[in-house]
Amino acid sequence: MERIYRGLVASPGLTYSAIAVLKRKVVLEGAIESEKVRDVNAEVDRLERAKKRLMEELEKLKESAPEEEKDLLDAEVMMLEALVAEATELILSEGIRAEVAVKNVFERYAKQLKEASSSTIALRVHDLEDLATRLIGILMGVYEKEVKLLRGKVVVADKILPLDFMNLIRCGISGIVSREGGLTSHVAILARSYGIPYLIVSDLDVSTLSDGYTCILDCINGVLIINPRESTLERYRDVIAMYRELSRVCREEALKEAVTRDGIRVHVLCNVGSIEEAKVLKSYGGEGIGILRLEFVYMGRSSPPTAEDIEKVLEEIVNSVDGEVTVRALDIGADKPVKFLQLTPESNPQLGLRGIRLLLQYRDELLKPFIEATLRLAARVGDKLRIMLPLVSSPIEVKEFMKIVEEVENELREKGVRYSRPKLGIMVETPAAAILLDRFVKAGPIEFISLGTNDLTQYVLAVDRENPRVAHLYSELHPAVLRLIRDVVERARRCGLDVEICGEMTSNVYAIPILISIGIRKLSVSPSFVGRTKYVIRKLNVSKIKPIIDELIDEASTPEEVREVVTRLLRDFGVKLLV
Ligand code: PEP
Ligand code: MG
Repeated sequence: MERIYRGLVASPGLTYSAIAVLKRKVVLEGAIESEKVRDVNAEVDRLERAKKRLMEELEKLKESAPEEEKDLLDAEVMMLEALVAEATELILSEGIRAEVAVKNVFERYAKQLKEASSSTIALRVHDLEDLATRLIGILMGVYEKEVKLLRGKVVVADKILPLDFMNLIRCGISGIVSREGGLTSHVAILARSYGIPYLIVSDLDVSTLSDGYTCILDCINGVLIINPRESTLERYRDVIAMYRELSRVCREEALKEAVTRDGIRVHVLCNVGSIEEAKVLKSYGGEGIGILRLEFVYMGRSSPPTAEDIEKVLEEIVNSVDGEVTVRALDIGADKPVKFLQLTPESNPQLGLRGIRLLLQYRDELLKPFIEATLRLAARVGDKLRIMLPLVSSPIEVKEFMKIVEEVENELREKGVRYSRPKLGIMVETPAAAILLDRFVKAGPIEFISLGTNDLTQYVLAVDRENPRVAHLYSELHPAVLRLIRDVVERARRCGLDVEICGEMTSNVYAIPILISIGIRKLSVSPSFVGRTKYVIRKLNVSKIKPIIDELIDEASTPEEVREVVTRLLRDFGVKLLV
């Protein structure tokens, strides 16, 4: 019988397929007693190999994990070490198979932990169970077998762990649904960066579902339809077919160059916030990194990273990307605290101590190590590395920054360390920077400008980007924002500079024709949007749309009007739209 659930879209997409219920318990129960092993050393080696694989997965996950999950992953690594050490002893003393040894150790621990009867410890039992299950699964080759069973399916579970997700991705699943989870959870971040639709359905009773049921997973409207009836399928069939076709086209387009019909080349780079994302962007067609949000290097630590720590992360990223990498200096503040800074809570954090303002106040702890890391790395990688300053609102900030660059250069010279200056840019994300652009450019050796439209929009419209009560007023398509952006491009042109853009506006399909026609030639988007962005660009003819867009920016009063005109324009150019 058809059942319909509403849920929270954690990652967009649309698919119709069979479901597979994730059964982790089966693996654990499958590790049954069997005959003794002949070669205990070979068994210990087998366990070591499985541990190594799991360790690598945990390390990989840590790179992309949000701050609050990093400590948990560290704890899991320690737990895994202890589990394997004891299981190894059991194999050696009792001559049993590795799977059984892991299961026995887990059961002994679980019993002890459960007896402690505290809720925090109970949570640990789950973590331990996940690890033991995964380890046994690797030993039994379950995950290799799962590949065939799960290919193309929508996986449903009470909870999906990051480790599960990494395995599911290898199996080629088409979507995920879970009862528990949040939009900012690690799995949600991973699902978005891998382009897998993900719906969180809090009233889902997984025990009522079975493998072989079918579902429509509509992560555009936030709906899960289990066993859809023929009339529902009929309704969805065309939309799903169109979505599949569009996704296929976008995947193909992703690996091509973004050139408009009248021959204008546009570069599509990626917004990246972890090493993991940096490593996948090439496969999505990203031509480099337009903004590397460096916050992940600082979060979850009890002391600030040293120049060496920062340099190491940056080097790994620069080496895994073909094109240029633009690193945005740290942008934290009272709303995004880090453990090692005791920041006073602010009543208006979006207007408070963040971005370059905060960096200049913590120059020794934060700014100098960042500058040193980038100067040293630039000596090895040259122009491939660029840096940019967040939230500048006064040209004096650029001057102050340059003074510190000179200081660090002197120190490196005295120490005999090789260095070079990476290209310097500013983010235009305050109205002050947008209006006074020429003065900012004169304040230092600025070589590029990147629009941070997430912040620029909130400051132009006086709408807090994180306040759901005014979310309906927040739109990058607001004509005031568009006029200002057009002015910035014109002002930059007079200074002999190009403007690029890295705010989420680039992921808004209606913004693309506007940005291209006002002269922006470098867009940075989330990796999973590269294909769609290139698809749209390759359909456009800039000389034909420019007069329409100019008039629209001059005449429109509301974002709705803008969207309406651009929708028509995109249709005229044969761009298929779904959302
Ligand atoms: C922006 O403000 O548009 C931007 C890219 O920076 P963030 O979203 O990190 O503030
Ligand atoms: Mg910003």
